Amino acid sequence: MFTAILLDKNDDGTTAAKLAQLDDTQLPADGDVTVSIDYSTINYKDGLAITGKSPVVRKWPMVPGIDGAGEVIESSHPEWKAGDRFILNGWGVGENHMGCLAQRARLKGDWLIPLPAGMTSKTAMSIGTAGYTAMLCAMALQEQGVKKDGGEILVTGASGGVGSIAIAILSGWGYRVVASTGKLSETDYLKSLGAAEVIDRNELSAPGKPLQKERWAGVVDSVGSHTLANAVAQTRYGGTVTACGLAQGLDFPASVAPFILRGVKLIGIDSVMAPKAKRIAAWDRLAKELDPHKLATITQEITLADALDKAFDILAGKVRGRLIVNMRD
Ligand code: NDP
Repeated sequence: MFTAILLDKNDDGTTAAKLAQLDDTQLPADGDVTVSIDYSTINYKDGLAITGKSPVVRKWPMVPGIDGAGEVIESSHPEWKAGDRFILNGWGVGENHMGCLAQRARLKGDWLIPLPAGMTSKTAMSIGTAGYTAMLCAMALQEQGVKKDGGEILVTGASGGVGSIAIAILSGWGYRVVASTGKLSETDYLKSLGAAEVIDRNELSAPGKPLQKERWAGVVDSVGSHTLANAVAQTRYGGTVTACGLAQGLDFPASVAPFILRGVKLIGIDSVMAPKAKRIAAWDRLAKELDPHKLATITQEITLADALDKAFDILAGKVRGRLIVNMRD
């Protein structure tokens, strides 16, 4: 038997979340690698699944948890054998395939990537999908030619998981990062991660003009809605905006003016179905280039039981940085 968070649907359509004891016969049959999970995380999407606030869960009952790191117990996949250490991010795990907020999981070997040399499961989950997505955004800015001496980078949702790690990565690479936050009380924290300046997110969250004063050479946006529209409207000629999230909203109330008059590029970032080679490249850079001291200040460790309440906190924007779940506690 092992412990897991189990989600089920109530008769009225709401989600029931509880800690449960499961056995291996309850793990999905469509998996070729059985693993023990050392650490998982609570991402924004896990918050949506556990609270039922958005319909991210597609099969019931479900174990949530889009991220996991640990050790292979048993495998019929040619690339994986017992004792191998892995990272899992996304692929619909925790949405339509039982996930990693559990001490055990059965996954597809094609979804796993090797834990980078020298990295622990704990560090991998401190980064998690949020940090790996932040790296995909930062790499996209570089690929689009945004140079560290080319102007400022705006990071929205700055105190969240994606935002915090994006600040650490980009400032570590020498960019001047401006952090937009609703928690000005976290200014010292954001500066300790490397933000050169902190602005109030109210400057960006209300409806704005289609073209505004040019400021940003690049943007990492995890917020969407008016914030993304204003960020695009303030991006300099030829600049790049990466969009990965919807913490303010799924809408994008913008005009085409910045694209056709300033050549601004809007790059969508998806971590869930990203190809394996891209994941391995991102994780390799995270292992080598993310300051471990900064990562430690970003991370808070909780238990599986705590995760049930923390799911509500993350959706309420009350969580700073990253929540990691120790499965052995
Ligand atoms: P967090 O909850 O950790 O961070 C989100 C941050 O957004 C909050 O901390 C807060 O930061 C800000 N925020 C919250 N509510 C609002 C609001 N109403 N208006 C403006 N800002 C708000 O989540 P993550 O960092 O894990 O994820 C961020 C987003 O990115 C989510 O929408 C998530 O679904 C998405 N995501 C997408 C991925 C992909 O593959 N595309 C992968 C990972 C995440 P502050 O208080 O500092 O303003």
